[in-house]
Amino acid sequence: MTEADSTATQANPSVVLSWLDSANAEACEFPLANLPYGVFSPAGERPRCGVAIGDAVLDCQALASIGLLGQLDASVFAKPTWNAFMAEGTNAWQALRARLTELLGADSVNRARIEPHLYDRRAVELHLPIRVAEYTDFYAGRHHATNVGTMFRGAENALPPNWLHMPIGYNGRASSVVVSGTSVRRPWGQLKSPDQPLPAFMPSRRFDLELEMGAIVGKASERPVTVDEADAMIFGYVLLNDWSARDIQAWEYQPLGPFQAKATATTISPWIVTSAALAPFRVPTPAREVELLPHLRDTSPMLYDIDLEVGLAPSAQASTTITRTNYRELYYSAAQQLVQHASSGCPMRIGDLLGSGTISGPARHQRGSLLELSWGGKEPLTLDSGEQRSFLEDGDTLTLHGRAQGNIEGRKVVIGFGECAGTLLPALTDPFGG
Ligand code: MN
Repeated sequence: MTEADSTATQANPSVVLSWLDSANAEACEFPLANLPYGVFSPAGERPRCGVAIGDAVLDCQALASIGLLGQLDASVFAKPTWNAFMAEGTNAWQALRARLTELLGADSVNRARIEPHLYDRRAVELHLPIRVAEYTDFYAGRHHATNVGTMFRGAENALPPNWLHMPIGYNGRASSVVVSGTSVRRPWGQLKSPDQPLPAFMPSRRFDLELEMGAIVGKASERPVTVDEADAMIFGYVLLNDWSARDIQAWEYQPLGPFQAKATATTISPWIVTSAALAPFRVPTPAREVELLPHLRDTSPMLYDIDLEVGLAPSAQASTTITRTNYRELYYSAAQQLVQHASSGCPMRIGDLLGSGTISGPARHQRGSLLELSWGGKEPLTLDSGEQRSFLEDGDTLTLHGRAQGNIEGRKVVIGFGECAGTLLPALTDPFGG
């Protein structure tokens, strides 16, 4: 922000300071400038829409029912997903954010009416924030694609010939998407070692994570869309762990791509950080050596500067940070992914979830999967406890974090995503048993 900008905003109500003290703490992930949307339920009550502020959740249905959210009907927020609100359109998205900023801002005249509708965030249950219409996962990280390609095809053929020309992806399963905190069961699958003549059906031995971000489509389309239209269709972002069985994938992926390797579970964080909240952190995509076709070209900065990290905690042990990277390492923005997705006329729906692809940086400690961190199992990682990991062990808990950090109105602000966590349970003894 320029000096002129910050002078000009001084007369206006703050977009940074809240009357809720916990929202003003320096390290708080949910300050007034964030206002992420989730679905919560207090003990024994039904799930409904809420917004995170400081260490609390504010009940949007209750706010609407006492007339504090203007024309928006409380029934929109009574549902256990944000899909109905997304369908209200981009003007409603802007209006709700502006209104919540005013209501929760330090100058609010409505504090006494709002306070009864705040819940301690630690005391509520969080649910999937959207009904996932469909789920598509991309492969838009160049360092990840290069690392994986080098391991499987050699450095010369690391990137597939199409890779620098378009974001590539596969259609996943919406049914596999779960919210943070849901345990994940090690899958069984068909595996074939190169030294065995026949495949066998057994539990995966190379089960892995993929550090990704998910973009949530908030507006439907029936025809191809431009990069600018696509950018405006994205309601917000979540952290995403694309659990991946590398051994199942290696045998099944030719020629139609991942299938059961990616179908066990995909975990997302419970809070949707809106595109509006992330706007101050926009950055351009990296320099390109091959110019994209016109319909895929960047029109403005559409990636975001978001620090990402993954912690791995073996059963009953402290967590070791195994990777630190940044969302800006991606080669294609979510808007470019959406352009590609809709380019054939494929209809996009409200609630579509687009996985970014694994986000790895250039250095070893910036790799977003164990496949890369352990280089296919050849260079196991040593955790703080001294234990080693090539792939996940039963009982391991993975926790993803994401934070955009910078200055707004001269104050240090963190726009956090909360946690995206999951624990790996052992494979079933008999996967076909009762
Ligand atoms: Mn993936």
